[in-house]
Amino acid sequence: MKKVVKFGGSSLASAAQFAKAGNIIREDVQRSYVVPSAPGKRFDGDTKVTDMLYGCYAAAEAGEDFSEKLAAVKARYDEIIEGLSLHLSLEDEFAVISENFLKKAGADYAASRGEYLSGRVMAAYLGFPFVDAAEVIRFTAGGEYDDNTTQELMSRRLSKYNNAVIPGFYGSYKDGRVKTFSRGGSDITGSIVAKAVRADVYENWTDVSGMLVADPRIVDNPQPIEYVTYKELRELAYMGATVLHEDAIFPVRQENIPINIRNTNAPEDPGTWIVGSTCQKSRYIITGIAGKKGFCSVNVEKDMMNSEVGFGRKVLQAFEDCGISFEHMPTGIDTLTVYVHQDEFIDKEQNVVSAIQRLARPDTIDIEADLALIAVVGRGMKSQKGTAATIFKQLSARDVNVKMIDQGSSEQNIIIGVANRDFETAIKAIYNGFVKGK
Ligand code: ASP
Repeated sequence: MKKVVKFGGSSLASAAQFAKAGNIIREDVQRSYVVPSAPGKRFDGDTKVTDMLYGCYAAAEAGEDFSEKLAAVKARYDEIIEGLSLHLSLEDEFAVISENFLKKAGADYAASRGEYLSGRVMAAYLGFPFVDAAEVIRFTAGGEYDDNTTQELMSRRLSKYNNAVIPGFYGSYKDGRVKTFSRGGSDITGSIVAKAVRADVYENWTDVSGMLVADPRIVDNPQPIEYVTYKELRELAYMGATVLHEDAIFPVRQENIPINIRNTNAPEDPGTWIVGSTCQKSRYIITGIAGKKGFCSVNVEKDMMNSEVGFGRKVLQAFEDCGISFEHMPTGIDTLTVYVHQDEFIDKEQNVVSAIQRLARPDTIDIEADLALIAVVGRGMKSQKGTAATIFKQLSARDVNVKMIDQGSSEQNIIIGVANRDFETAIKAIYNGFVKGK
C-alpha cells in the first residue's frame, strides 16, 4: 500500500501544526509521499504566507524596498524551525529569493516559494528526500498543465525513492520558469503525485473532518458525508460546496484512486471518501445539499414553440452572442426558461432580450431576478421512491414557493429554484426532511 498525503495551509500554519502532520505521517509507513502547502493562517486575522509573498513581490515589482516584508516571511519559517528544534538555516534560500525578486522573477515564482520552503522544512523534519516540483511538474508554453510530460518526469523521478516531499502548487515551463496552479492548487499537486506513483489512496489533510451534508453556516452541526462519488462531488462543488480544488479530481479519477479528506486536528475521524463508484449507500438517501443565490430566469413564451424546429437553439444563440453562459433550461409546452447568473446578466439584459426577440420572435419575454438554485445530490435517488416527495413536502410545510424543478437524466440530482429570501429556509427544510426524518 502506498499513500500520498497532502497537507493544507492550516495544517502547517505553525510548529505545533507541523508536528501534528509529522505524527500523522510517522504513524503509518504507507504514508510515503508528502505534498505540503505553504503555512496558512494561525488565527483569525492572520495572513497566509502565500499572500505575504504576493504582497512582498508587488513591492519588489514597484521598485520599493521589500526587505521588511520578506523578513516577515522568513520569521514565519524560523518560528516553525525553532519550534520543531530543527537544525536548518534558510539564510541562503532567502538570499536567492531576494535576488530573484530584484530580477523580477515573476509573481508565480514569488508565490511558489511558500510551498518550496514548506517542503524544505518538511523534508528536514521527516528526513525524507526533497523533490522540487519545478523539476517534475510541467506546463505547456501556453500555460496549460501538461499531464503526459509531468507523469513521465514524475514517475521516473519518484521511482528512485520510497519516500519524498514534493511541494504543492507549482511546476515550471520547459525553460525552467516557475508557474503556479490557481489558488488552492496544492490539491492538484497531490492528485498528480498520487497518479504518478500509482498510490492506493490520496489523503488530503485539512482542518475539517471531511465534507458535510449541508453548509454548516446554514444548518447547525450537519452530518458528515462518509462516501461521495467523483460525479456527486462535481455536482456539489459546482453548487458551492468547497472541500477540494475542482481540478484535483481529474488525475486520480483517471486511475480510480480514492481520495480521503481528513482532519489534521482530529486524525481519529474517518473523514470523507471520494471514490469512482461504491456500493456503500448514503445513510440518508441523499449525499449532500448545496446551492447558490444570485440567479435570474428569462422566461420565453411562444405559441406552438415545441413544433418549431430550432427554437431552443435560436434562444440560446442570443445568450451566446452576448457572451453569457446559462445554468439550466427547463421547458414547458409553449415556454422555455433560461437560468443565468444575475451578476453576469444584469449589464447585458437588454441586449439579450433584443437578441432573443430578433432571433426567435417569441410572444413574450419575462425576467425574474433574485433567485437561488439548490441541488439535492445523491446516487441513492435512482433506486429510491419518494425523494422528490420528501423535498416538496418539506418545502411546502415551510411555505417555500418552488419556482423551478429540474431533474437530470442521471437521476443523481434534483435542482430546485426558489427566491433568494427562501434559500436558507429551503436548505434547512430539505436537510431536516432527509437527515432528521422530520
Ligand atoms: N498556498 C497556495 C494558496 O494559498 C496553494 C495551496 O495552499 O493549495 O492558494
